[in-house]
Amino acid sequence: MPLYEYLCDDCQMRFEALRAFSQADDLLPCPRCQSKRTKRVISSFAAFSKTSEETASRSLGGNPCASCSADSCSTCR
Ligand SMILES: [Zn+2]
Repeated sequence: MPLYEYLCDDCQMRFEALRAFSQADDLLPCPRCQSKRTKRVISSFAAFSKTSEETASRSLGGNPCASCSADSCSTCR
């Protein structure tokens, strides 16, 4: 089950919750002030994964060294 990060609009508290993917956008009350004005935020980890995915797909496009899983090697540099 993935870990999601939420931000409370009322007290600005960030909190995390393990939720099923289908429940990720469901309302989750703030554990501190019980406010229901919370929203899901993209964690830095998720943003990092997205960046590396984009980098990987970009190198797949015009990279002659397709079998090389490293960012650079003597063949594809
Ligand atoms: Zn709150």
